[in-house]
Amino acid sequence: MSAIRVLPELLINQIAAGEVVERPASALKELLENSLDAGAGEITVQLDRGGIKSLKVLDNGSGIAREDLPLALARHATSKITSLEDLERVASLGFRGEALASIVAVSRLELISRTAKDKHAWKIECAGGAIQKPAPAALSQGTGVEVQDLYFNTPARRKFLKTDATEFAHCEEVFKRIALSRFETAFSLHHNARAQWHLAAQDAPDRIKAVLGENFADASVWVDEQSGLLRLWGLAGLPAYSRGTRESQYFYVNRRFVRDKLIAHAVREAYQDILHHDRHPAFVLFLEIDPALVDVNVHPTKIEVRFRDSRAVHQFVYHVLNKALSPSVIQHDASRAAPGNPFTAPTYATQSAMPLGAAQPAVFYQTLFGAQPKTPSGAPGEPQQEIPPLGFALAQLQGIYILAQNDKGLVVVDMHAAHERIVYEKLKSALDNGATAMQPLLIPVTFNSDKLDVATAEEHQAALRELGFEIAALGPNALAVRAVPAALKDADAAELARAVLKDIREYGASRVLTERRNELLATIACHGAVCANRILSLAEMNALLREMEATERASQCNHGRPTWYQFSIADLDKLFMRGQ
Ligand code: ADP
Ligand code: MG
Repeated sequence: MSAIRVLPELLINQIAAGEVVERPASALKELLENSLDAGAGEITVQLDRGGIKSLKVLDNGSGIAREDLPLALARHATSKITSLEDLERVASLGFRGEALASIVAVSRLELISRTAKDKHAWKIECAGGAIQKPAPAALSQGTGVEVQDLYFNTPARRKFLKTDATEFAHCEEVFKRIALSRFETAFSLHHNARAQWHLAAQDAPDRIKAVLGENFADASVWVDEQSGLLRLWGLAGLPAYSRGTRESQYFYVNRRFVRDKLIAHAVREAYQDILHHDRHPAFVLFLEIDPALVDVNVHPTKIEVRFRDSRAVHQFVYHVLNKALSPSVIQHDASRAAPGNPFTAPTYATQSAMPLGAAQPAVFYQTLFGAQPKTPSGAPGEPQQEIPPLGFALAQLQGIYILAQNDKGLVVVDMHAAHERIVYEKLKSALDNGATAMQPLLIPVTFNSDKLDVATAEEHQAALRELGFEIAALGPNALAVRAVPAALKDADAAELARAVLKDIREYGASRVLTERRNELLATIACHGAVCANRILSLAEMNALLREMEATERASQCNHGRPTWYQFSIADLDKLFMRGQ
């Protein structure tokens, strides 16, 4: 007898089930996708004991004709494609024709269905792969699939199932993924006979709000951009809603949920500047692309995809998000204002009342930005100038906050955080342009260091210079900083040098200049930014406000915290219960 045998059909399906139905949640995903492919407008899910005992999906879709019922359960039988050309531009969620066959091989399954033409429904039952003859049954148009005792005949697999609560949590996540992708379909979910979710057919923003909550919707920006054959739309969470894990990340390609490395990279890059590296953004984003330009047949569960032109997709996703996430301060403010709630006319003293003439010489400004501030005009009699978005400074509070007034009311700025952002963006664009201005120090700053730091400094002169530093060895245990980046000339040079050398030691010069670069810049910007308790003149404060307006993404510090906040007159009125 030959040693090599063709495996029996049931065993083949049980092997496939290992990939396609890893746990109840994966069976649920396949059933929900079938309902969507059948054009269902309403889908009900009923789970018992996390879906292990029973998992039922009922839809009002097109249904399956009687003669097709056994075929639906057969391996490699599908109504969705007939040729390779179809496969290459497949638009349905399913096409492999193996989900039901795999589920049937490892469970007791009942399939009831009725098409528009049928006078009544038909059902077939199946246990461990043995299919019964169709029998009449009762159901209005659509399909119901009930899967019981998953893995009852494959005990080794059954052992891998976790507690009911864990399996339910996985099922609920699958349910949310699917519900987020088809807002025009109504969904409900019951667990152990208790209603958990009920989602009416609605528009995308309402569905996202219903599934992920108001907090997410409020702390995110709406994105919608098209370029050629690509469109990206959805909600991108702002740093205020960032997470410690990747949980709230929903990305869809042609309405199919995917976890794709290329996409993940593009998204991470887009968030890099506004999000601390150990925080994760939340988002619900839909990429739409000609199906012929993406291969979905890469993975048995189709969670990964392959793009024909992956570079173009990467760039598109990165640019759209990057742009959406770097609003000018004006947009930033507008997003906070309640829609349809225009501001009332401001009732405050005009700019001319500000004692700008009395401001001290702008020494700080000069050290900060290397030039005299453009004093905002506003002397009495001069034509009234426009009020800039962040307004004009009124005072400094406790050495920490700048208070300013604009046409909406009061602006409160975190001085250190705002300056840190400005310094960071400056360093970054200087490096991008290959023109980090160096400021030689009249008196080099010397400091003690260990041998490794000395060696690092000697070895990586070129990299240090690129970053704007000149650091020389004075002896085996001492270094001298001779120049620092011009944007940082008032910072503690020794501190800065230590921070840079530490990074180079830890990650190597080339990584520090590439992937680690922005983190390093953030660290040195933090050292270089004005410290709390530094007393600023009004002119200096105004200079900082103007710099913030001119700086991209100035509304958030490098760690994703806001740098300023607007209190409208209406907000203040509310505090004082005026006009109530
Ligand atoms: P695939 O979805 O890859 O085609 P499946 O094994 O999931 O493979 O389903 C096999 C076939 O059964 C489908 O192609 C479809 O014709 C039919 N089918 C399954 N579920 C449904 C449903 N809920 N409504 C209508 N037809 C269905
Ligand atoms: Mg399917």
